[in-house]
Amino acid sequence: MRISCDYDLCESNAVCVGMAPDVFELDDDDNLLILQDDVDEARREEMRQVVASCPRSALSIVDE
Ligand code: SF4
Repeated sequence: MRISCDYDLCESNAVCVGMAPDVFELDDDDNLLILQDDVDEARREEMRQVVASCPRSALSIVDE
């Protein structure tokens, strides 16, 4: 599964970074980086919780 971010919505508050720092990171300019192109299926529930916790609803899970 892939995680997608709508950068028009993201306000770089780092909630996702705090929940899964190996998947999300803020760069020096406070731009969100998604570090993994393909997040392990075993982490789907965890990723669902991260997506649901984003205060801007900027994140989504993409199945391809
Ligand atoms: S939790 Fe949402 S708004 Fe905050 S940095 Fe992550 S994607 Fe952006």
